[in-house]
Amino acid sequence: MTDVYAFVFGLAFGSFSNAAVDRLAQGRPLHGRSCCDACGRVLRVWELVPVASYVALRGRCGACGSAIGLRTPAVELASGFTLAALYAATPLAIAAAAYAALMLAPAAAGVALKRMRRAHA
Ligand SMILES: [Zn+2]
Repeated sequence: MTDVYAFVFGLAFGSFSNAAVDRLAQGRPLHGRSCCDACGRVLRVWELVPVASYVALRGRCGACGSAIGLRTPAVELASGFTLAALYAATPLAIAAAAYAALMLAPAAAGVALKRMRRAHA
């Protein structure tokens, strides 16, 4: 059962990671409500549930219909499975450290790439 909790925590951390990468790349603060990148509408609570809200909305904003992108659920699922696998295979402290290392490097790379794209756009 704790593996399920690890998976759910991984989904949530993946969702936060997606938001953090987007906000840091755009020079926005990490705090504040999440909103659609296209129309700016603040997302409702049920639209923030990792993977499930993406499926329910069929990958589109509920207001303007713009595509959300597969990266969002892909990162959430990868994060969930990574944390669950690490937790099942190693003691908690080692799993947490390995998970942090595995998540921080791609997130930092994502911020750098998005900033470079914005600079050249
Ligand atoms: Zn929208």
